[in-house]
Amino acid sequence: MIQRHFKDVCCDILILGGGIAGAAAALAAAREGASVVLAEKSGRLGGIATNGLVSTLCGCYSSLPGRRKIIGGFRDLLAAELHRTGGILEGVDRDTHRNDTCDPELLACALDTLMQRHDVQLLFSSCVIGADFSERLLRSVEVVNTESGTQCSITPRLAVDASGGGLLSRLADPASIVSGGEGGKLQAATMVFRMDGVDGDRARLVTKDEIRALLAEARRNGDVVGERGNGVLTVLPGNSSAIVNANWVQADMSVPEDVTRGLVEGRKKALENARFFRKYVPGFGNAVLSSIAASLGVREASRIKGKYVLSQEDVMEGRRFEDAISLGSWPMEYHDYEQNRLVYLWSENDYDIPFRCLLPEGLDNVIAAGRNISVSSMAYASTRVMGPCMAIGQAAGTATRLCLKLNAFPKEVDIHLLRKTLLNEGAILE
Ligand SMILES: Cc1cc2nc3c(=O)[nH]c(=O)nc-3n(C[C@H](O)[C@H](O)[C@H](O)COP(=O)(O)OP(=O)(O)OC[C@H]3O[C@@H](n4cnc5c(N)ncnc54)[C@H](O)[C@@H]3O)c2cc1C
Repeated sequence: MIQRHFKDVCCDILILGGGIAGAAAALAAAREGASVVLAEKSGRLGGIATNGLVSTLCGCYSSLPGRRKIIGGFRDLLAAELHRTGGILEGVDRDTHRNDTCDPELLACALDTLMQRHDVQLLFSSCVIGADFSERLLRSVEVVNTESGTQCSITPRLAVDASGGGLLSRLADPASIVSGGEGGKLQAATMVFRMDGVDGDRARLVTKDEIRALLAEARRNGDVVGERGNGVLTVLPGNSSAIVNANWVQADMSVPEDVTRGLVEGRKKALENARFFRKYVPGFGNAVLSSIAASLGVREASRIKGKYVLSQEDVMEGRRFEDAISLGSWPMEYHDYEQNRLVYLWSENDYDIPFRCLLPEGLDNVIAAGRNISVSSMAYASTRVMGPCMAIGQAAGTATRLCLKLNAFPKEVDIHLLRKTLLNEGAILE
């Protein structure tokens, strides 16, 4: 028999998923007192950023010369909160990019604080397992608490799908999501890990090309067998720890058998990577492996079919849209497992992300946020980084807030009002 919670939950706005996009959406949605519930299946906020140990906020600065800041709003509130705990280095220039680097543990804490400050009701260990729909509307979701084993339903007026995989669209109609590129091909996943005892001053000088050359040397010596021939390290605030992203695992997390295999294989590869870093990479001679990500870093999952599909051409040509709610600039970074290569496609322009990409074709009271918006597989290789994910989340949350105020559906939102509100709240749209 299923145990039910004492009370089911009714709210104005449900945020499904507490990744970086869901957190941004929740904060924007709650700004004027709406009741906002955020359901997250893990035990903390941040999604891939924290449970996957990805510590660099990419895409907050243009990739063009000048590297101007292109993401504000929620990103700025988060940066201010992280500064209070020494958890962020802003505007770090490395190789070809300028990024913000944050400590994943402190990031999770900063997100908690921001949510509490805005009275977002957090439901951790709360996995959405089903939903009820009628007349193109989400009516309720069914949630199981993985700690207590109890189940409850949440009945919202509006919802933001920040699940990273278009879960609400999939539950409404499996044909309303897409996965991967041609033939469903997905990017490689990575098991990220953290090393402590790093000489940060030395390690931060190591370039991607040097890592590539050292990996080739280690392979010749028989010290490395993993297939990936490149890697990236990020020195964390505090200067004595680094995050390492240096292996590839092929796993589709929508396939149950892949979940366990991917995690076990990923941890094995992380151990080999850590031995390599200690032996070969400057600054890591005394370092120890201190943490392997709790979740496998799955780059590519399902996304919604929306009212507009952002394409590779839109990104390459730097296309402008009247309903733009975020800028994007990260190159299309494609981790190709099958061909064992990392592809970067650079555009000569920043580009716009239109609001229509957030609107699922078949649902009227749901908005998508983060990496599961409506884009092609190659455009996804750019929009999936955390800068745009935060801005998209802020736009989705703001739109739900306006919908409540105006008693409208997301597709009816006055785009000029939405853009004006975003600009007033720190977003950068040009
Ligand atoms: C290995 C790797 C390295 C990367 N490196 C970088 C980098 O250096 N810089 C960068 O900017 N980006 C990087 N990215 C991309 C970036 O981290 C993600 O695309 C981005 O964080 C996605 O944010 P999101 O909020 O849209 O989704 P997610 O982070 O996936 O969040 C979705 C959330 O929804 C929750 N959820 C899912 N299903 C349910 C359910 N049924 N019930 C309740 N909750 C649910 C999940 O637990 C999760 O917390 C990397 C990605 C990977 C995989």
